[in-house]
Amino acid sequence: TMTQTDTRNDLSAVVAADRAHVWHHLSQHKPFETTDPRVYVEGKGLTLWDATGREFLDAVSGGVWTVNVGYGRESIADAVRDQLVKLNYFAGAAGTVPGALFAERLIEKMPGLSRVYYSNSGSEANEKVYKMVRQISHRHHGGKKSKILYRERDYHGTTIGTLATSGQKQRAEQYGPFPEGFVEVPHCLEYRAQWDTAGYGRRAADAIEEVILREGPETVGCLVLEPVTAGGGVIVPPEGYWPRVQEICRTYDILLHIDEVVCGLGRTGTWFGYQNFGIEPDFVTMAKGVASGYAAIACTVTTEAVFDLFKDDAADPLGHFRDISTFGGCTSGPVAALENMRIIEDEGLLENTKAMGARCLANLRDLMDRHPVIGDVRGMGLFCGAELVVDRATKEPMDEARVQAVVAHCLSQGVIIGATNRSLPGYNNTLCLSPALTVTAAEIDRITGAIDAALTAVFG
Ligand code: PLP
Repeated sequence: TMTQTDTRNDLSAVVAADRAHVWHHLSQHKPFETTDPRVYVEGKGLTLWDATGREFLDAVSGGVWTVNVGYGRESIADAVRDQLVKLNYFAGAAGTVPGALFAERLIEKMPGLSRVYYSNSGSEANEKVYKMVRQISHRHHGGKKSKILYRERDYHGTTIGTLATSGQKQRAEQYGPFPEGFVEVPHCLEYRAQWDTAGYGRRAADAIEEVILREGPETVGCLVLEPVTAGGGVIVPPEGYWPRVQEICRTYDILLHIDEVVCGLGRTGTWFGYQNFGIEPDFVTMAKGVASGYAAIACTVTTEAVFDLFKDDAADPLGHFRDISTFGGCTSGPVAALENMRIIEDEGLLENTKAMGARCLANLRDLMDRHPVIGDVRGMGLFCGAELVVDRATKEPMDEARVQAVVAHCLSQGVIIGATNRSLPGYNNTLCLSPALTVTAAEIDRITGAIDAALTAVFG
């Protein structure tokens, strides 16, 4: 049961208000004409309670890989409260105490990078990079080196600009027209191999070079990649991929932008996903796990070399990054982020992520013996996926209705799991697990046990 009852609100009236007035994210609302929407009231650790008093184990950290340190963290709430009564906000050409201190702590974890630009969503953090790249092109390459390459299956946000870099085409459908200069490169998922699988990592990276040569390297300013692709199907790039990507970027003077919106702050068992692969990015963006959803904060991090390109002529009125994010000036974000980082460190959550992630993947692989609909299991740290197929031999993708039936069956058992890319036919087939980094062995076993039971119920 909930640790506190909600004495302030009549919860059935709350659900009615939600049904009458809230337009939910990513939702077709027709079903709510006959059923109540779910409204969550309280959380502790990985456990959630809804307005009907039902208890759930959350295996997706708040739906979208966000609540890395779990629910109900009083120390974050206390830190935010203390800061808000001292100074809640200032934005523009000045700093705040938590903004300075969190930037310093963050940079300690990111050797080679040195500057932090604050905003408040992953989409926005990515847009900042696109603007920086475009401005660098105008100031240093005569406006020519302005194309931004993105990868099939990757996702970078929901704004018109970031949707122009959506490797998940249906997300962008019906929202055009889009701005120009964004070009797709092929995905690197070996399970859905597009080339001979010998040396697949290198081959998939070479495909990026082919696009660069086709477009003209002098026109390409930046390449944006997720370190481990999230919504596109939990894709860990194959061996040999990253060193070749780095080499290609250096050869053609292309800035490398790693989108850590999902992987950042521990999800893969290291502070950042790219740190598993030994790469040196020019830009890193992050959002979700930075303050685990206790406050809205996003960061665009870059090198001193990039930063210096924006201060080469103090007399030029256009010679600086002419951008602002109003809520990039909220102190709640960096103060929550500081405490979030302290928790990850002091509670050994990176180590727990590695250990529990390995357990989760092993459990999912065990399920393959009993459930032929699992075609592939993949992941890194507490970021695990199981791709469902109609037939292991042909790898025909499972249809959305049955994938959603598995998700719904888990929910009926009180376990919230995810499935990547509902909106994409053929891609909407990977069950996704991303529990809080505090997850225990018993909780992992309960989550994979629920999937076992759901697969049996749906497929026999
Ligand atoms: N980048 C990646 C890899 C994401 O998964 C997401 C959101 O799911 C975003 C960017 C966009 O972040 P936001 O929803 O905070 O704008």
